[in-house]
Amino acid sequence: MSNTRVAINGYGTIGKRVADAVDAQDDMEIVGVTKTGPSFGCDLAVKKGFPLYCTSDDPERIASFAAGGYECAGGLSDLLASSDIVVDCSPGKHGEENLATYRTVGIKAIFQGGEKHALTGLSYTSSANHAANLNADATRVVSCNTTGLSRTLVPLHDHCGSLKVECTMIRRAADPGDSKKGPINAIKPVLKVPSHHGPDVKTVKPEIEINSLAVAVPTTIMHVHAIIADLPEGHGLSTESVIDLWKAQPRVIVMAGEANRLTTTAEVMEMARDIGRKWGDLHEIFVWEDGVSLQGDRLYYFQAIHQESDVIPENVDAIRALMGTETDWRASVARTDAAISHYYNL
Ligand code: NAD
Repeated sequence: MSNTRVAINGYGTIGKRVADAVDAQDDMEIVGVTKTGPSFGCDLAVKKGFPLYCTSDDPERIASFAAGGYECAGGLSDLLASSDIVVDCSPGKHGEENLATYRTVGIKAIFQGGEKHALTGLSYTSSANHAANLNADATRVVSCNTTGLSRTLVPLHDHCGSLKVECTMIRRAADPGDSKKGPINAIKPVLKVPSHHGPDVKTVKPEIEINSLAVAVPTTIMHVHAIIADLPEGHGLSTESVIDLWKAQPRVIVMAGEANRLTTTAEVMEMARDIGRKWGDLHEIFVWEDGVSLQGDRLYYFQAIHQESDVIPENVDAIRALMGTETDWRASVARTDAAISHYYNL
């Protein structure tokens, strides 16, 4: 079978990581990546050998790349014409316009969590609904927070048969490379209650009853979730067996905070940098083992999310789902992770 030809529209924080992860797989290849115009991000595409295209077909915009010293292979239409699927990593809210373009060309498309579920009517996380996405024309990989919630709640739900969840998202104010967002000295509650993060889990696992609150705090490196889950009677779990359940899941790391001196997101991300993946990424959700406590039927726990990278392997699996090249989500996850989640390769 020939490799799946993948276009990346929007080579920013998420786009450059998805391109790298796709490039590492042996069943897919990058046809090209887009930028709006010449900027330092183009250098990485050149270094990686990814053909550079413009997000627009406007000849003046395309010509501006040469003026900036970069070779531009063409406009978005040229890129889409030679690809099987596009991963749209544009900033949120461009989805509607971009989807119309993809539909005109007749190309499959994957969007990111900045877009609403209604755009595609279908969303994706690997463990929740890979099968429902098989051979679909378009889907949306849910946000970093919703992906994180799914990683620990879906196996819990699958074990228990039902689950009622209340959670608080303590969100990073901005990504490390972002100079426009805040707050830098305040805690900002999301006054739309409930926040969209928890209910968004229902787009991939409708059976989970869940609501959330969210606050933004002045940090750039991770989100933390404080989660309370009510398990049904007769769940048969203990704190220890919940921990074992998560330890057996792909893309979840459970580690003792106190014993390992990993008590804050700063140390967790320092550990991630020691692992030595590209950009110091941590694709897994990090659960503090000593912060897990089942009291009666009520489970309490904290988890941390590396917002720039947990959705990256999910995008690779979503490509296989839409292309129908791997029907078993666990097989896709194993294949994706074997190619990108190296340990100690510094
Ligand atoms: P970003 O701003 O870092 O990158 C976006 C890229 O798209 C930039 O290179 C920009 O030049 C390009 N672009 C601008 N207009 C475009 C257009 N019309 N068409 C195509 N590309 C265009 O943004 P990001 O953080 O990578 O976010 C991309 C998507 O991923 C958003 O939906 C976001 O909500 C989602 N997401 C972001 C994070 C995160 O932590 N950064 C995590 C999960 C999901």
